[in-house]
Amino acid sequence: MRLDKFICKSTELTRTEAKKVLKSGEVRVNNEVAKNAAMQVHENNIITIDGQQLSARGSRYYILHKVVDTICSNVDEVYPSVLHSLEVDKAFDLHIAGRLDADTTGLVLITDDGRWSHNVISPKKQCQKTYRVWLRSEIDDDKLSALVARFDSGLQLQGEDSLTRPAILTRVEKENLVDEASYRSEVLLTITEGKYHQVKRMFAAVGNRVVGLHREQIGDITLGDLAPGEWRDLTEDEIAQFS
Ligand code: URA
Repeated sequence: MRLDKFICKSTELTRTEAKKVLKSGEVRVNNEVAKNAAMQVHENNIITIDGQQLSARGSRYYILHKVVDTICSNVDEVYPSVLHSLEVDKAFDLHIAGRLDADTTGLVLITDDGRWSHNVISPKKQCQKTYRVWLRSEIDDDKLSALVARFDSGLQLQGEDSLTRPAILTRVEKENLVDEASYRSEVLLTITEGKYHQVKRMFAAVGNRVVGLHREQIGDITLGDLAPGEWRDLTEDEIAQFS
């Protein structure tokens, strides 16, 4: 890793501040003064600032309960980034492992460990993501088994080269559906990939329309009692699933 990046990771300094400290000659690598921000360093190098040895801070891993009208991006656009809700140092150095649309709520994983997020996102890793989906049209008993089979065998989405991977669809039985509800059915859908607007496009491909979407689970990680807008550190067991 570059020396300036190492300094930022192991202190609270910004990249600009790290460069200033480097210029001042206070930084030593293996006891030699180092001024080159681009110098490559490794964990076994001894790096000091003003005689104080730095140790690389480990990677960071969080779970957040996303609310509507926030976005999973490192820059604010029409809506603010979910990263504003994280009350941690340098939150914008982190990235989101599997984005949700602005109008989707639910479970978001956030880290600065690129290899870990690759294990969450890559379709090759087959990590399951479960969504609760509210749909405009009813899925009655007659349609249900045919639909389950179609989701299982894969759908052709417009503009995609390959079928969607097998997905598991289950209907949530709803005793109390009120007439005014904006949806006529509620389902759980588990997928193992994350194509652009995948869930919405899958239901559009079978003639329905998603009116509400909430991610409940990634692998074995669930929101539990995390309230909308809240976040917490992931536990060691949760991190280990994708390490
Ligand atoms: N699929 C979608 O269509 N939207 C999301 O936010 C996540 C999955």
